[in-house]
Amino acid sequence: MNDFTFTRATDTSSALQLISEMPDSNAARFLAGGTNLVDLMREGIEQPRSLVDITPLPLSAVQELPNGGLRVGAMVRNSHLAAHPLIRERYPLLSQAILMGASAQLRNMATTGGNLMQRTRCYYFYDSAAACNKRAPGSGCDALDGFNRIHAILGASPRCIATHPSDMCVALAALDATVNIAGPSGDRQIAATEFHRLPGETPEIDTNLKSGELITSVDLPASTAGFASAYRKVRDRASYAFALVSVAAAVKLEKGTICEIRVALGGVAHKPWRASVAEGMLRGKAATPENFAMAAATELAPAKPLKYNAFKIELAKRTIALVLTELSADKGTAQ
Ligand code: SF4
Repeated sequence: MNDFTFTRATDTSSALQLISEMPDSNAARFLAGGTNLVDLMREGIEQPRSLVDITPLPLSAVQELPNGGLRVGAMVRNSHLAAHPLIRERYPLLSQAILMGASAQLRNMATTGGNLMQRTRCYYFYDSAAACNKRAPGSGCDALDGFNRIHAILGASPRCIATHPSDMCVALAALDATVNIAGPSGDRQIAATEFHRLPGETPEIDTNLKSGELITSVDLPASTAGFASAYRKVRDRASYAFALVSVAAAVKLEKGTICEIRVALGGVAHKPWRASVAEGMLRGKAATPENFAMAAATELAPAKPLKYNAFKIELAKRTIALVLTELSADKGTAQ
């Protein structure tokens, strides 16, 4: 691990001030739960020269918003969020997704903001002997011709085929959540679906957060509360494994017709993948297994298989169709 300075912020403005005073803001990081960043530092993958500890910031509440939604503070721990009565009642999909991520010990440490900031689990990214454009821009990508079983089938680029690892963020994408940000130029919001990036030419940039900006909270809209919803995660073992494919789905039906639908996929792209093509096909249609299968096939039509991950295409299609079929039969439980 490299040498670094360590300072502790007490509120949002002092955190922004401390990070702005760092000689190289690109080499400074906010430290929350540290469940990913500290691992990356131990491995030498991340080498920040300065850490600003934000754990004392008063951002640990889940609050009701006047519009009927909920605001989740960036420092709310994953375990607390998953167990919160209002989350379980109004957004069970989010609770389910969080509980399928990591382990109980990690969820006790990991925060809402940190979960949004976690980096890919591509094996080659963590192997400092491998070529990796995300870790060392311009060095190449050993995953392209390597063991790419866990890699992306949608939205990848010749520079990077990594997938985003979070379960929570897939649920946030399906729920139309908004990420609230404070920064040197003031406060702003980014839709959860736009927070993470596709790799394009710059896979080293994971998110649309700018230098010196800090996530302060996440808003869950009232409009997606009360949908029938489920999070399904397909993985190699039943716990402590990342998704090969996951599906977060929320639907509203009226007499067998789909009034509203939200579907997001995990494990398939560099960001949570909102299945807007499938959603558009299904809105106003009958909630039948045939329609679900057709919409899933259309959504996955642009998918590009790599040597070891072609199975993900069929897996994603079947998982989407199965989850939506179960939800339409009122079996909206997580599995
Ligand atoms: Fe690096 Fe992305 Fe290639 Fe993995 S897929 S080795 S993260 S460039």
